[in-house]
Amino acid sequence: MINHLGLKRNNSNKELITILPKTSNGNQFNFINNILLTKKTNYLLNLSKNNKKLDKIKYIINHHKTYNSFKINNCIYYINDIVLIFGEPENLIGKIIKIIPNNGLKEFPFWPCVLVSWCYTKKDLNRKKNNLLDKKNYDSISEYELFPTNHKDIIYIESIITKLKVYTYEQYEELNENNELTDLIYFSRAKYDSKSQLLVPKFKDWKKSCVCQRPLNPDQLYIKCDKCLGWFHPECCNIDKNNINDIKIFYCPNCDKNIEKNSNIIIVINKNQLTNI
Ligand SMILES: [Zn+2]
Ligand SMILES: [Zn+2]
Repeated sequence: MINHLGLKRNNSNKELITILPKTSNGNQFNFINNILLTKKTNYLLNLSKNNKKLDKIKYIINHHKTYNSFKINNCIYYINDIVLIFGEPENLIGKIIKIIPNNGLKEFPFWPCVLVSWCYTKKDLNRKKNNLLDKKNYDSISEYELFPTNHKDIIYIESIITKLKVYTYEQYEELNENNELTDLIYFSRAKYDSKSQLLVPKFKDWKKSCVCQRPLNPDQLYIKCDKCLGWFHPECCNIDKNNINDIKIFYCPNCDKNIEKNSNIIIVINKNQLTNI
C-alpha cells in the first residue's frame, strides 16, 4: 500500500490528519489512529491544546508508520530512489532510506523530511587510503560514478531537486554506445564505507584494462583491439589521439607481439599521419 504525504508546511491539526497512515502497528498508535479514522477529531483537538501531548502524538505517528512514497513538484519519489539534493557549494546525491512526515527538529519541526544515505563522488573519497593519490588511478574514476555509502543524514524533502538513474558499469557503457546518456544518468561499481573510508571492493581489485592496467573510465577515450577486443588508451599505445579515426585495424601491444611474422593479418594504418608508432 502506498501512502502519500501531505506536503504543505502547516502544523494545524487538519494537516496532521492528512498525513495519517492507513496502516500501523503498535497499540498506542492504533489508539490515536482509531480516533482519527472515526473522525473523533474534537478529541484530538482537545489533546492538541496541550502541546506536550500533541508532540507525543506526532512522535508516535512518526515512529510507528513507514511511508513508501511522497510527491513533490509533480514527481513521485520512492524509498531507494537516488536523488539530486540542493547543496552549497554544490549539489549532493543521496538514496532515500526513510520518509519522515515531520522531523521534530527545532527549527521547522513540521516540515517533511527524508533520511538519506549519501552517494559519494570521486572527490569525496579518501585518496590516500584507496591508492588514489596516483593521478592516473584517480583519473580512472568517472565524474559520473557514484559510491553508495553508509553515511546518513536527515534532509528536508523540499531540498530534493530531481531523480537520478544509476546503472551498473556495463549498462552505462551500453547507453554510452547508443548515445543515450544524460546528465541525470550515473553508474556505480563500488560502495564506500564511510567509517573505514575504504572502497568495497577495494580499488586494486577492480577490473583492469589497457597496458597501464587501470579501470576503464567511460569519460576517457579508448581504442578497441581487434584481436583481444580489450580497450586501450591511445596514449598508452603511442597513438596520437587526433589520428585515431585513421586507424582501420588496431592490435594492442600484447597482441601485436604475438602475431606471427608469416601471418597474413595486416595492420592498416595511415602512417603519414601517425607519430611514434
Ligand atoms: Zn592505459
Ligand atoms: Zn589485444
